[in-house]
Amino acid sequence: MDFSLTKKQQELIESVKSMAAQEITPFALQEEGIHREKMLISLARMNLLCPTVPKEFGGLGLDLFSTALVVEELAAVSPGLAAIVAATLHAAEPIILAGNEQQKKEFLPLLTGAQAGAAAFALTEPEGGSDLNIISTQAAADHNGYLLNGCKDYVINAGIARFITVVAATDMFKKKASLRIFLVPHHAAGVKIEEIYHTSGINLAPVGRIRFADVNIVGEHVIKSREAGSGYLLLTQTFDVGRALVSALAVGIARAALEEALNFAENRLQSGVPIKKHQAVSFALADMATRIEMARLMTWKACWLIDRGGDYSVASAMAKLASSTIAQEVTCLAADIMGARGYIKGTLIEQLVRDARVLSTIEGTNHIQRMVISSQL
Ligand SMILES: Cc1cc2nc3c(=O)[nH]c(=O)nc-3n(C[C@H](O)[C@H](O)[C@H](O)COP(=O)(O)OP(=O)(O)OC[C@H]3O[C@@H](n4cnc5c(N)ncnc54)[C@H](O)[C@@H]3O)c2cc1C
Repeated sequence: MDFSLTKKQQELIESVKSMAAQEITPFALQEEGIHREKMLISLARMNLLCPTVPKEFGGLGLDLFSTALVVEELAAVSPGLAAIVAATLHAAEPIILAGNEQQKKEFLPLLTGAQAGAAAFALTEPEGGSDLNIISTQAAADHNGYLLNGCKDYVINAGIARFITVVAATDMFKKKASLRIFLVPHHAAGVKIEEIYHTSGINLAPVGRIRFADVNIVGEHVIKSREAGSGYLLLTQTFDVGRALVSALAVGIARAALEEALNFAENRLQSGVPIKKHQAVSFALADMATRIEMARLMTWKACWLIDRGGDYSVASAMAKLASSTIAQEVTCLAADIMGARGYIKGTLIEQLVRDARVLSTIEGTNHIQRMVISSQL
């Protein structure tokens, strides 16, 4: 095992850091999304909206490990921006894994280069996100493809996605066993953004409800799983990647909280000394740093396994479970260290507490991660 980063990875981190310091950090506390477009252009200029897209389709062709390094850096400055990137990576993953040449040529270049945009992954429905057996979005076969009907909820990048990767059942009697993944251009007739929510955190990322009413999906826009009935398998493989990326996002949020609390603790005087000199505070900082290191190593292991094509479902679920929990604990500890400031709207730490809150819900709730892990014990 080698924990050192390659020269290329170090340079990648440095280039993201330097771009972020100039073009993202100055606007990161303004959550309303007014700077979103500008930030996406900055990412596109560096081809970072979907860095896993292979070079032949215009991407950087990064492995997941290097991509996780990018996501951590982005999350450390803007968790909402990192969520936009993670959702785009999730939407592209089924195409990269199982798409045919035509699908790759048509959809992946939309996420690369200076004109790149985001993509969305749509699985959750108003009736539920955890139970795939109650999925009600249906893709009914018709003469030249499928007719898509249904509603997807809480979709990141709703309204800004160039295309939506939609999970639907092709047989309402079989539901989970008949799942297929469909690629729906954002402008397709019958696609309607019904609502964009006011979320508690990751505010830069638009999260919304999308209705599909008699949307015609041509046969070329269906990802053909290699074996019949293996749409579910492809879905779980993309979740493994998505969970590792959420884990990286969690590490970035936790790291930002630690840096903020540490800086405060070194400068805030109480009883005549910086509060970092009080053991209660310095031990809390030590615990935070230790937990972040645990989360990062678990994230790296999951990505490393995925890049090598090993057995990675449990590693990915464990990383997501641990890192999201750690990010929530660390942001709260950081807010405590900052006293009253940690509770004031408009401060970084108050924002990070809200950002971290969603991590135990997205990409399968942490209850679902525990089910994945315990089923393999
Ligand atoms: C900000 C945000 C962004 C999101 N982005 C996306 C996105 O881009 N695409 C997308 O498809 N979805 C997205 N989601 C939806 C998210 O994936 C779902 O919220 C999540 O899967 C849970 O589904 P649910 O909210 O319907 O809760 P439910 O499935 O109704 O679950 C409610 C509670 O019951 C628990 N529970 C359910 N079943 C079980 C069980 N069998 N055993 C134990 N506990 C159980 C859950 O863990 C949870 O605590 C997003 C959500 C949020 C808040």
